[in-house]
Amino acid sequence: MKKGLLIILSGPSGVGKGTIRKYIFENSKLNLFYSISMTTRSPRNAEQDGVDYYFVSKEEFDERIKQGKFLEWAEFVGNKYGTPKDIVEDLRNKGKDVLLEIEVNGATQVMKKVTDDRVISIFLMPPSLKALENRIRKRQSETDSVIKERLEKGKKEMTLQTEYDYVVVNKSVVEASEEIIKLIKLKRKS
Ligand code: 5GP
Repeated sequence: MKKGLLIILSGPSGVGKGTIRKYIFENSKLNLFYSISMTTRSPRNAEQDGVDYYFVSKEEFDERIKQGKFLEWAEFVGNKYGTPKDIVEDLRNKGKDVLLEIEVNGATQVMKKVTDDRVISIFLMPPSLKALENRIRKRQSETDSVIKERLEKGKKEMTLQTEYDYVVVNKSVVEASEEIIKLIKLKRKS
């Protein structure tokens, strides 16, 4: 059996990775599996444990790092986020395609670590820096200094876009999502 694809969807915080991921899961018939990340961040708005993230304590997260249970993990604006390794591996070994929606540092780790040819990496770009700032502000859940920190980080992350297989500009959710769906279909055939 062919190993399942590992689809890395990355890009700066606030670029719309989550919205695009939801569109792909709701509107494509790709039957992908989403890797639910673990985080030490507190739930935001209506986020649910085991659906949006596995919300864990800092101690539990650090214990899992020690045990080597993450495919990758990264610290992002004061919190840790990581991809559970076993779940992703099991699914791929069963031929299932798994999508990771992760920040840039983690994506770089995965691209270095997973060297088989069933990996596709996509960097999502905002149409402009102003658009990125507006999106981050719209969440209204963070202080001004966190917003600034996310934006500064985003600017640096954008310089790494050339490391990815594809760069997609998020001018419209539908267009960007449909473009990504096409790229995944193409990779499936290879
Ligand atoms: P947020 O706090 O906005 O949910 O997430 C902050 C950033 O962490 C986003 O860019 C999000 O894509 C990223 N992220 C979510 N899960 C993971 C993960 O498992 N690993 C890494 N490296 N980043 C993640």
